[in-house]
Amino acid sequence: MRLYTQLLSLLIFVTVVACQAQLDNKTKAHKTMNKENYRDLNEEEKRVIINKGTEYPFTGEYNSLKEAGVFHCKQCNTPLFKSEDKFDSGSGWPSFDDAIEGNVKEIPDNDGRRVEIVCNTCGGHLGHVFRGEALTNKSTRHCVNSISLSFEPTDESPRDTAVFASGCFWGTEYHLQKMNGVIDTKPGYIGGHVKNPGYRQVCSGLTGHAEAVRVIFNPKLVRYEELAKIFFETHDPSQVDGQGPDIGNQYRSEVFYYNEEQKQIIKNLIKQLESKGINVVTRLTKATTFWVAEDYHQDYYTKTGKQPYCHIYQKKF
Ligand SMILES: [Zn+2]
Repeated sequence: MRLYTQLLSLLIFVTVVACQAQLDNKTKAHKTMNKENYRDLNEEEKRVIINKGTEYPFTGEYNSLKEAGVFHCKQCNTPLFKSEDKFDSGSGWPSFDDAIEGNVKEIPDNDGRRVEIVCNTCGGHLGHVFRGEALTNKSTRHCVNSISLSFEPTDESPRDTAVFASGCFWGTEYHLQKMNGVIDTKPGYIGGHVKNPGYRQVCSGLTGHAEAVRVIFNPKLVRYEELAKIFFETHDPSQVDGQGPDIGNQYRSEVFYYNEEQKQIIKNLIKQLESKGINVVTRLTKATTFWVAEDYHQDYYTKTGKQPYCHIYQKKF
């Protein structure tokens, strides 16, 4: 009888412990599996974050970003990396030699060689971590897909994006980057049908891309309309498939808009120009993927000290 009581106690004890463990797991699971507050991901974000894909190098939004702030998980908003740990590795992906403690989890990659890094909260794929490369004092490189991150600048000024194509992108960038309120400019390619095109490919005129400039700006300091006016005033919007001596559809005049408001502003400006007798051929197209151009195109005129040859300011409004 005594043995029976002891066995019964043991059984109750085991059951209670098991239930407790189950409860702990549930709480834990509940914490990490609570998807109510997760951001909805688009197809490209899902490809990288959920299906562990990789974005093309030198194309990500944050590859060359040098602003102060914190990089959060795109899906669950957990803070993952700080801008002071970001360095230029030349790899084409944002690189950090440290992560915010406890928020980035390392797991062996399925390839059996590399170490994958994921968000410790939601498990979203971030990239890989490499050690021993001696690129920084910490000799650690968290190689992260821009698309897995969302950046919150320390300076919380609002930001907006504009994309303009007006011939050789060095000239387009030259004028736009000088404007007050412009945070960043990038030359690149947009509007074609080939993924991640290179300069030579685009120059062939066969990819359908236009040479363009992406402008990140603070709309409180400079309005989209002011940028668009500079765009029209620094090139000839009546030249078909070319600009000055640069001939080819990759040098066409085109505005890639991100919202209805931008579209309407451009339509109005085109009307104003037409009323002045200018035959505007500028195309107006909804923005698609903007492929940032190779590093040697960035800040061309600032780096070389040269002046643009076919983008001269001329007052039109
Ligand atoms: Zn996350």
